[in-house]
Parts: sequence; structure tokens; C-alpha cells
Amino acid sequence: MDILLKENVLRRARLLHQQNPVVDAHFDLPGELLLRHKRGERDIIRRDYLEKWKRAGLKLLVASVFVPTAITTRENPEEILADVLDQIEALFGEMQGNGQLTLIRDRTDLERVLKTDQIGILLYLEGLDCIGEELFVLSRLFEKGVRGAALTWSRKNALATGCCKAGEYKQIPGQITEAGRRVIREMERLSMFLDVSHLNDEGFEQVLTIAKKPFLATHSGSRSVYDNYRNLTDEQMILLSGQGGVMGLNGCKLIAGSLSGNHLEMLCKHAEYETKLMGAGHVGLGLDFCDAYDRAAAAAAGKMLTEEMDCLRDHTGLILLTAALLQRGMAEMDVIAIMGESMLRYFRAVLPGGA
Ligand SMILES: [Zn+2]
Repeated sequence: MDILLKENVLRRARLLHQQNPVVDAHFDLPGELLLRHKRGERDIIRRDYLEKWKRAGLKLLVASVFVPTAITTRENPEEILADVLDQIEALFGEMQGNGQLTLIRDRTDLERVLKTDQIGILLYLEGLDCIGEELFVLSRLFEKGVRGAALTWSRKNALATGCCKAGEYKQIPGQITEAGRRVIREMERLSMFLDVSHLNDEGFEQVLTIAKKPFLATHSGSRSVYDNYRNLTDEQMILLSGQGGVMGLNGCKLIAGSLSGNHLEMLCKHAEYETKLMGAGHVGLGLDFCDAYDRAAAAAAGKMLTEEMDCLRDHTGLILLTAALLQRGMAEMDVIAIMGESMLRYFRAVLPGGA
């Protein structure tokens, strides 16, 4: 049984979403667009998303380029890069001529978008398998507009070792490689943000000694609230916030720990625990909605999606989360920070032209 929300709290939540910026730091949009474009669909963002994003008050979305393991394990790294570039083109194709969306390349773009009714898109790679060990490929991707990356997804590559997939429960041993260290330094030189959400525990510890600029965990919960290696330990959370990072609340049932259907309750528990430990200024949203991507991937394979994993129906479900946090007694200022202000502070500081 999930939380029953009172009408007056829902009204307050709707108002907060009209008056304050909402940021989702993790959404697998480009891959979904590419898969659906291949099946002849077009104008997907305008038809499926825009109205809901506006209703949720979304102002900034981190569009995550995810390359499935079936492609990353191919011999030729150029095939991985080709998939990444195809995903980026699919996203740009949808953004072109859509006056509602702006690619955020620097702090100035971000500030401009925040003053309009547009939504900013930050381009990010969930794993850098596509660069092999080559820094010049990273620079090329930066030129294209990529502003952030995780060294690896939940797997080992030339740069680092990921933690296991959310549905598994095992530690994959492995360190950040020499090439991985060089990549972190180059990302910092370019003012790209570094995401540690999928790193294994060893890698997290190493990043602390390598990174000179604040890094974040775009889509992870608290391991004390729900024991899963995709979530951060208390110690990791304190270290993450201590260096100026933010963690994005993950809205996948497997990571939030809400398989029994108590989605709002579990999301609130993560948010409240993280706020108590680090302060709301280090808590944001990185919802990791994957049902749309998984549905597109299933359709491409001639199948139907059998199991949905998103805790909320879509981004408009965030209004329910806000209401649930308020109803359980979280201060309005803290809710506003979690909705978007914490992530905005981070991106303002880290993007090119930032503090
Ligand atoms: Zn992920």
C-alpha cells in the first residue's frame, strides 16, 4: 500500500511545480528516440513528452546516451561510437525546429533557458566505451555538445569497472585504469561533469583521490535504505556531498526497493535519509525512467515489454512525490532543493563558464 495523498497537499505540490525549476539528471532518451526512429516514428518528444514535462515544471533534463552491452562487446570500437553518434543525431533531429528545447553547452545557455519557458537538454554518456582510451574522441564528443559522462556502466571497460546491474547482488572487482585517470583529468579540463553512479566501490574511492572538481551520482539511492550495490553507502554519501556533489534520487523499482508497490514511500525514505545525512542541497532527482526505452528495445526485437520498472508513471508523477514529501513533514525549502535547485547549483558550478 502506497501513501494516500491529501487534496490540499496535492494543490500545494502542483503550485510548487509551477513556481520552481524541476531537474531530472538521468533519462535514457536518445536511445529510445533512435530505436523508434528506426521503426519509422518521428516527432516523439513533441507527441509523447513535451506536454507532460511542462506540466511537471521540468526545466532541465540530462539526456543519457546508453549503449547496450550487445554493442559495447563488439570488437570494433568504431561500431560503439557509431551507435553513440546515431543516438545524438536522433536527439538533435527531434530538437531541430522544436522551439521548446535548447541544448545546454555552457552556463550562459543554462541561465538563458531558466529565464524562458524552454526546457534545457544536457547531453551525457552513460559509459565511455565508445572512446576506448582515446582522449581525442572525448574532445570530438565535447565539440558535439556532450557535457558529462560516467566512465563505465555496470560493466568493465578500458577505463573503469562498474558495480553490478541493479537486479544482481555482487561486487565486481576492478580499478580505475591509467587511461581512466587521464579521462577524468581531460573531462575536468573540458568542464564536463563526472558521474559515479555506476562505479564499483573501489572506483568510487579512487575518484576521490583523482578528481579535483566536484563529481556527482546522477541516479543512485541510499544503500542504508535499500541494500543494492547501485546505491551509495553512508560514507560515500558524506564524501560525495563533502566535495560539492549531488545525488539524484533513482526512480527505478529495483534501485528504490519498491517492488511491492510502495513507490512513493520508498522514494520518500531515500530522499529523507539523504537529506538528513547530507542536507537537501546535495539531493536531487535522477529518475532513471527506463520503461519507454525498454519498450522501444522490446519492440525492435519484435517483443512486448513484460515488466515495468519505473516508480512513477511519467514526469508528472513528480508532483505526487513532492506532495508525499510535504505530507510526511519535509520543509518546503528542502523539497524545492530536491526538485531542482540542488542540481542547478551543481551544473552552474561545473559547466563551461561556471564558477
Ligand atoms: Zn544507469
